[in-house]
Amino acid sequence: MFNRSTKIIARFSDFLTGEYARDYINQETPYDKQIEQAAALIREADYVLIGAGAGMSTAAGAEYGGKFFEEHFAEFQKLYGKGPYMQDMYSAGFYPFPDQESKWGYWSHQALLAGADLDVTPLHRTLLEALKGKKLFLLSTNADHQFEKAGLPAERIFQTQGSYNLIQCKRGCHPKTYNAVELFRQMERERKDGRIPSELVPKCPVCGGDMEMNLRVDNYFVEDDDWHAAEERFSRFLSECKDKKTVLLELGVGFNTPMIIRFPFEKLTREHENVSLVRLSRSKAMVPASLGERAVGINADMAQSITDIAARLHDTEKNNQ
Ligand SMILES: [Zn+2]
Repeated sequence: MFNRSTKIIARFSDFLTGEYARDYINQETPYDKQIEQAAALIREADYVLIGAGAGMSTAAGAEYGGKFFEEHFAEFQKLYGKGPYMQDMYSAGFYPFPDQESKWGYWSHQALLAGADLDVTPLHRTLLEALKGKKLFLLSTNADHQFEKAGLPAERIFQTQGSYNLIQCKRGCHPKTYNAVELFRQMERERKDGRIPSELVPKCPVCGGDMEMNLRVDNYFVEDDDWHAAEERFSRFLSECKDKKTVLLELGVGFNTPMIIRFPFEKLTREHENVSLVRLSRSKAMVPASLGERAVGINADMAQSITDIAARLHDTEKNNQ
């Protein structure tokens, strides 16, 4: 085990909150003015805590359903029918696969497409480039590692809901996860009629039972040593930035799991005058009115708003040279 600091002020569990804002508004400021406000807040900040949800990966180009699914999952649609499960990568994960060979036949395919083999990083790179010189940390509910692929060091990332690269004991009998990317590749090569050979089915090395993706879908989700170490680094960053000029930059976080990023960001902003909130979302960028000018909520195509904010920050940098 790692050493826990005794000086930690904020803990992740204390950070989480389910408090719904009573005074949400969609700001009526014109788009260009909002972009300038967001850029100004970021410009003045020393610390930026990015909170990323599914909307960020989507804005960057990740696809989960529609034509993408038809194209990459035709084999499974043929086997299991198209509805109601085999529509997109989210619904398909809930299909009651008849056996472990079929389950992993499907999941290895999805895990690779949504994780190890997904590369939608240009937008992530644009953002990281624009935030150069800031003290950065990422809190993410995505399991796809896109910020890490774009160059953000792993020690600056807390991916709270798991990873498409990892598997764990289905019953969570021991607090460990296992990197399965190579195993997934082998499954992908050897899959026939949706099933993998029995000898490739992973078994728990402790209890001998079935394994599961390390994705938080129920209370059996395993938080391993790496998860706890990331939590600790996040808590330190939070303790440090709370009293400094800080921007909470929220990207594509809706209302699916608002207690992890959305509500805590609002609370932090409410409770700390030096903290401001920049919320980007295609349609869920409402902010509490009481936060006044310390909150900017931009309802727009995020690929556009991120690019525009980055350009504005870049201009300032040029003018200062
Ligand atoms: Zn086990």
